[in-house]
Amino acid sequence: MFIKDNIIYTFILVILVCIPSSTLAVDKKAIEKTKVAYLTFDADMTPFMKKKLDEKKVSTWYSKDLVNYLEDEKIPATIFVTGMFAEVYPDLIKDISKYPEIKIANHTYDHSGFESPCYGLKVVKTDKSKIEEIKKTQKILQSLTGYEPKYFRYPGLCNNKHDDALVKKLGLEISNEGLASGDAFNKDQVNITKTVVNGVQDGSVIIMHLGGPNAPAIDVSIKEIVIKLKAENYVFKVLD
Ligand SMILES: [Zn+2]
Repeated sequence: MFIKDNIIYTFILVILVCIPSSTLAVDKKAIEKTKVAYLTFDADMTPFMKKKLDEKKVSTWYSKDLVNYLEDEKIPATIFVTGMFAEVYPDLIKDISKYPEIKIANHTYDHSGFESPCYGLKVVKTDKSKIEEIKKTQKILQSLTGYEPKYFRYPGLCNNKHDDALVKKLGLEISNEGLASGDAFNKDQVNITKTVVNGVQDGSVIIMHLGGPNAPAIDVSIKEIVIKLKAENYVFKVLD
């Protein structure tokens, strides 16, 4: 009996030793619940920003490196684009729309605030003008992407119930709630990464910008954010 037990123990030990530790780690990860995060990026453009570009005082209002990263790594993301940004960068929007992992959404035409005050943004006052801002942008984006955007986000996230009803009447879903990454005018990539990684929860919509001078560190932060959230068993999805 003693000898038989010993043989069994040895057999079990050999099996355990033969299982690579990485397999055990993967199994453990698979058992943990998968969580979802929605990476979203705003592509703003105001008449003031366009003027700076035309006068060559600014070379770009987005980060090519950030876009390349999302495309090359096939990272599911939703990009809220202003109509004016799409008019300035039509080839970029066409190129992005070739990637099924990335969806384009509506961020008004010229990034005017719908609610006053809104961080010093010019404000659209009438319902008629608000509807025009949205419809004009839908048309521009559809002509470049081949589909009508489903989602809408307010400039500066400034909204009210009346405007929400207006947007929904136009058939759009509103994405205004979420985790603000604090990437606007922030050069500290460690701080942005920390804000996201510490604040994220299952189902979080993470609000960022598409880089450029108004969001100078997000192109670096995003790579860290993706690595850290994947390690916490997050998967990324587009708003759809
Ligand atoms: Zn914006």
